[in-house]
Amino acid sequence: MQYPLLEINLSNIEKNVVTLTEKCTRWNLSWVAVTKGFCAVYPIVKLLFQKGVRRFADSNLLNLISIRQLLGEEVELFLIRLPMFSELELLFQYRIVPFVSTTESLTKLNSLAREKNTNQRLILAVDGGDAREGFMPEELLQMATSFPNWSHLTIDGIATTVACLNGVLPDRDLLQRMVQLKHELQLILKQQLKLSVGGTTFLELWEEACCPEGVDEIRLGEAFLFGHDISRKKSIPWLEQETFSLWSEVVEVRPKKPNQFIGRGFDAFGREVDATKQSKRARKQALVAVGLQDIDDSQLWPEDSRVRITGATSNYLVLDIEESANRYQTGQLLKFKIGYGSVLRAFLSPYVRKEYLDFQEDRTR
Ligand SMILES: *Cc1c(COP(=O)(O)O)cnc(C)c1O
Repeated sequence: MQYPLLEINLSNIEKNVVTLTEKCTRWNLSWVAVTKGFCAVYPIVKLLFQKGVRRFADSNLLNLISIRQLLGEEVELFLIRLPMFSELELLFQYRIVPFVSTTESLTKLNSLAREKNTNQRLILAVDGGDAREGFMPEELLQMATSFPNWSHLTIDGIATTVACLNGVLPDRDLLQRMVQLKHELQLILKQQLKLSVGGTTFLELWEEACCPEGVDEIRLGEAFLFGHDISRKKSIPWLEQETFSLWSEVVEVRPKKPNQFIGRGFDAFGREVDATKQSKRARKQALVAVGLQDIDDSQLWPEDSRVRITGATSNYLVLDIEESANRYQTGQLLKFKIGYGSVLRAFLSPYVRKEYLDFQEDRTR
């Protein structure tokens, strides 16, 4: 067997998908599965589909294309990163609905749609205060009267995303402003629009008090993958957290300390090293064969709580095992709890083997 190994507990992910669907139904909210955290791999996408999910969103066009090829026309696909001009052609080809936030993109999409004698659906991205992508609300209202110029575009609705760049947390006031904006735009455009919000950190608003009116859709990734809300640093108590684990193998155990009498440069990534934080006497250290190419060491936690991660390079993870009751040896396997960013990197790394617990080729039987 080959290590490192990313273990994926499909039955717990499945429980989360079922629970979220029940909750959202009760809240009169539809939910979209965000697949960028696991490169939209087949076993998880298939599970979502079999549990009734028909809407998928991803920031990487290639992931959406593979979902289209896998699941056909029954699903709706949303590109949640603003499209590059070089991607527009593929949006048409695979019937993908993009989030758009510039007039340049609208104009370009419209002229492509006209050339093809077709219509392109899209969603207008609105900045909800996190200062990443999106039209400013005032700006959107001002330009709304010129939308009829884009004769070959169909606007499905508006969408806002927070807590990504600046950690701005959503509150009821933000929702109210977005609902208000939706209503004003509906009047100008004389059509129904949907309001979509994301990601997981919005869930809390529905838990706190019942159902803010006028929000139609929530986009979730972290919730069904981890049962966790990283922006609020808390677990979601009604979801499962045991979904992903990483196993990796010890390749060296020795007492070690850095030589204090030799000048220090920078580490292999050009980062400064703080020698004052390092122990003056040798401590028992284990090297495991997994590194920053495969994981993010800030989102990885040893199952043995007395083991501490002290560093990582491209190919090694360095552990202080001095305090542990276990006598770790070369060849032994260590288990880690693994977070969102780290799971993404593991999916992107060809060096990490993936194992799906409870995966059945045909789950419908
Ligand atoms: C990643 C992302 C989401 C999902 O966020 P989670 O925190 O994983 O639930 C929703 N919307 C957009 C635009 C995103 O980029």
